[in-house]
Amino acid sequence: MTNSGPANFIESIISDELKEGKGDGRIHTRFPPEPNGYLHIGHAKSICLNFGVAQRFDGVCNLRFDDTNPSKEDTEYVESIQEDVRWLGFDWQERLFYASDYFDRIYEAALELIRQEKAFVCDLTAQEMREYRGTLTEAGKESPCRERTVAENLDLFARMKAGEFADGSRVLRAKIDMASANFNLRDPVLYRILRADHHRTGDHWCIYPMYDFAHPLSDAFEGITHSLCTLEFEDHRPLYDWVIANVSLPCRPRQIEFARLNLTNTIMSKRYLRQLVEEGLVDGWDDPRMPTLSGLRRRGYTPEAIRDFCDRIGVAKSNSLVDFQMLEHCIREDLNRRAARTMAVLHPLRLVIDNYPEAQEEWLEAENHPEYPEMGTRQLPFSRVIYIEREDFAADPPKKFFRLAPGQEVRLKNAYIIRCVDYTKDESSGEISEVHCLYDPETRSGSANSGRKVKGTLHWVSAAHALPAEVRLYEHLILAEEPTPEEEQEDQAAADFKSRLNPASVQYLTSCLVEPSLAAAQPGSRYQFLRNGYFCLDQGAASDRLIFNRTVSLRDSWAKAAKT
Ligand code: ATP
Ligand code: MG
Repeated sequence: MTNSGPANFIESIISDELKEGKGDGRIHTRFPPEPNGYLHIGHAKSICLNFGVAQRFDGVCNLRFDDTNPSKEDTEYVESIQEDVRWLGFDWQERLFYASDYFDRIYEAALELIRQEKAFVCDLTAQEMREYRGTLTEAGKESPCRERTVAENLDLFARMKAGEFADGSRVLRAKIDMASANFNLRDPVLYRILRADHHRTGDHWCIYPMYDFAHPLSDAFEGITHSLCTLEFEDHRPLYDWVIANVSLPCRPRQIEFARLNLTNTIMSKRYLRQLVEEGLVDGWDDPRMPTLSGLRRRGYTPEAIRDFCDRIGVAKSNSLVDFQMLEHCIREDLNRRAARTMAVLHPLRLVIDNYPEAQEEWLEAENHPEYPEMGTRQLPFSRVIYIEREDFAADPPKKFFRLAPGQEVRLKNAYIIRCVDYTKDESSGEISEVHCLYDPETRSGSANSGRKVKGTLHWVSAAHALPAEVRLYEHLILAEEPTPEEEQEDQAAADFKSRLNPASVQYLTSCLVEPSLAAAQPGSRYQFLRNGYFCLDQGAASDRLIFNRTVSLRDSWAKAAKT
């Protein structure tokens, strides 16, 4: 094992197994997404766990598409999933697999079970199957087809495969125990008839294996040693083990369950995410409000922050709800380190410096990061007319308003101290239209007198040099839920998520102004706009328009203090 001690209970189990000499010392995991949607932050937890365990024990991790359900799967998803796993920073090298690659071998495994009298073709209708299944307190009833001979079963199964029977008219079932306390062992279905176009095998098959059959087999075919899955599969583990025990296989993987990630204000299930996309309630899978990895990326999240988040939430055996603020904390910390500081005015208010010569401009040096001089400096143009944030001026300021107000002084970041001498108002709207100030030429930042203290420092842009930009501010897509018992949270969220859609989850600010250095910004690059938060240049933006997505706000204690 590399690094320090085990990071979670799964690593403890594995390290104990290794100490006890169980298995052959090899560690091999897999991440098995179904290509029926884009990956979300919950998947990131599973990816970090599976690839992380492999890394820690010098093992390897496969990427396997669990594509046994043709009706919802699509190559668009196959591609996006690979992109997202790579982006998160993990590498499956040459080990990219598809459960559909094993359809022949899975079929062979079914034949093997039939020959051992451990599987049979069943003609019960879906309705009858439900009736025969029994209840929590009552054993189920055996299917009348259960005692079919091997020859008869082989014949019928071959004909199922050959397309002789209608969809849903017959299934192949395991012969286990209709009286088992575990429903999953009451002769579960292994194969069904389904005429659907598969994204890889086309119409070659009209029978498809069920997840509970295909998954353990795929694991074993790939030599997986530890099959890590979420808690809802705990009750399926006896069936997983039954399949492994009853089919001749090269390896006996062990299933271990862990708690899925639930986040406040977040719908995680792909089913609902797909609904949001299909009903046009969001702007695609990569809408910056989506909890998908592509949405978070477009929003400006870094893979490092997401991996850090997955580290911090840990891996446990019981479900819990993680506060979204924890994810925001991780991205803030990361961006605080790496994002260059720049200035952008989101709600511009024109400000004229009356004593600054009309034709003059000067270029001031500004540091890109207050703590990391190695991030360099840039040149900021300054001139007689600038824009400041509308909320940074008050004609009639409340107490402790340390921004600009008649007679008050502030420092313009990286520039001079100015004092407000006048303002004009648009009489019809009552809005302030222009502020007039005088600057003190002796107070240029970095000069000898620059140390003079004023209480407020404002960001600004030079009117003649600023670039127009659109800025998009985001709030939670889903409003906070009423407190619900943990077990019900997912159901509850699912039931009423549309009624909890936040009508104000995005705000488009179309007349923002940003400093000219941002002309060189590359799509996807991230900045701190001083006092406004962390922003990312939209990746989908046309090259002639600057569109910045706010990744996360700053923890603006200053704004809070000013409000009181
Ligand atoms: P969803 O319910 O969102 O559709 P899923 O489990 O059906 O998710 P899969 O594509 O089957 O989606 O998931 C691939 C892997 O990711 C599985 O091993 C699954 O257990 C894991 N996974 C999915 N959601 C989460 C989550 N919220 N937290 C942790 N792991 C998850
Ligand atoms: Mg699934």
